[in-house]
Amino acid sequence: MSHTKLHPETLALHQGYAPDSQQTISVPIYQTTAYGFDSSQQAGARFALQELGNIYTRLTNPTHDVLEKRLAALEGGASGIVTASGSAAIFYAIINLAFAGDNILIADKIYGGSSNLLLHTLKNLGIQARVFSIDEPSSIEPLIDTKTKAIFFESLSNPQIAIAPIEEITQIAKKHQIITICDNTVATPILCNPIKWGVDVVVHSLSKYASGQGSTISGGIVDREGLNDLIKDNPRYPQFNTPDPSYHGLVYASVPLPIFNLRIRTALLRDIGAALSPFNAWLVLQGLETLKVRIHEHSAHALKIAQFLSSHPKVTAVNYPGLANNPYHHLAKKYFKDSLCSGLVSFEIIGGSEQAKKVCDSTQIFSIVVNIGDTKSLIVHPASTTHSQLDTDQLNALGILPNTIRLSVGLENPQDLIADLSQALQD
Ligand SMILES: *Cc1c(COP(=O)(O)O)cnc(C)c1O
Repeated sequence: MSHTKLHPETLALHQGYAPDSQQTISVPIYQTTAYGFDSSQQAGARFALQELGNIYTRLTNPTHDVLEKRLAALEGGASGIVTASGSAAIFYAIINLAFAGDNILIADKIYGGSSNLLLHTLKNLGIQARVFSIDEPSSIEPLIDTKTKAIFFESLSNPQIAIAPIEEITQIAKKHQIITICDNTVATPILCNPIKWGVDVVVHSLSKYASGQGSTISGGIVDREGLNDLIKDNPRYPQFNTPDPSYHGLVYASVPLPIFNLRIRTALLRDIGAALSPFNAWLVLQGLETLKVRIHEHSAHALKIAQFLSSHPKVTAVNYPGLANNPYHHLAKKYFKDSLCSGLVSFEIIGGSEQAKKVCDSTQIFSIVVNIGDTKSLIVHPASTTHSQLDTDQLNALGILPNTIRLSVGLENPQDLIADLSQALQD
């Protein structure tokens, strides 16, 4: 059955799996390291990619396979790969394209862990990250040269809650035949589909809303249909267009499969091996089944809380793109389903760091946690925790002030959450 016309919530429940010979309705966990071949000939054919099939769980696994198909279908992409974490997914997507001596362009407003990876760890590998302003796509073009291999940004950035002008970015990338990579972790494929707006590769931390209950670390990569055409004979990407000495001289561009993810699987997962545990793949599958109802509820609750905070006398600013006066509201309307904007809300209060920390400490339902996307409500003071390694100028540039508080609004009753914040702000 072709599932291409089905809605996301249907795909999340059915794509890539039909009850097996045991009529198991829940996707089985294939907790195995390796697979037995029918014959040595079959083993040889699998290693030569003449026959596609399982060899070793570092490369493929049937539980991963269902999750990969669901993720790809939800994003409207060609193929999916799951990895041990979102950070591993981003690392693989980048080093699939950029080598020592190359550069990549990255948005200024991104997850702190990603900026460490891209600015510092990649620098040690000889890959330079050049930073552009997500609010000014015109800052991209002057940074491009022949060594530019990727443009990386987040659709809805964590923790700045900025929405990317996706189409403007992908138009510039197309003009220069450069691959765009969009981290869609916070938006989730339910609220935003970057591929629809011209993005080539979508990456995810599935540790957040996708799994949803704060119980697993996992990541994913989806490439778009037709990306092979952009890569084939493109002088920016010789690794796909010349024989790979580590793979019998294979030229990826000659393979009739989505080659971006094929190369990640056959070369990078093979060699670097941040493979997901099958059990964790199963946990993410459980989460995806309810993603739509959860992200709708998270977003509805967050909007109510943002409205409450906006009218609170001790609150000086509220940052939530669902509010009509937010600078990203027009982008939310364009790119986000029904302008729903996830459960991330930040706000500033009268006073400084001490007052902000006191609010965090005074809440009773919100837990002080640096994660996002959990079913439970979370609160954090970024300046003293997630962003404590940055100096004042860097914090200002990111819009993180000493009195900024970030919420990841959960699925508790919003009236209870409002009452909790109300008492915490009064103390
Ligand atoms: C958490 C997060 C990551 C990193 O993912 P892990 O699964 O924790 O490795 C990457 N991008 C964004 C936007 C995130 O929120």
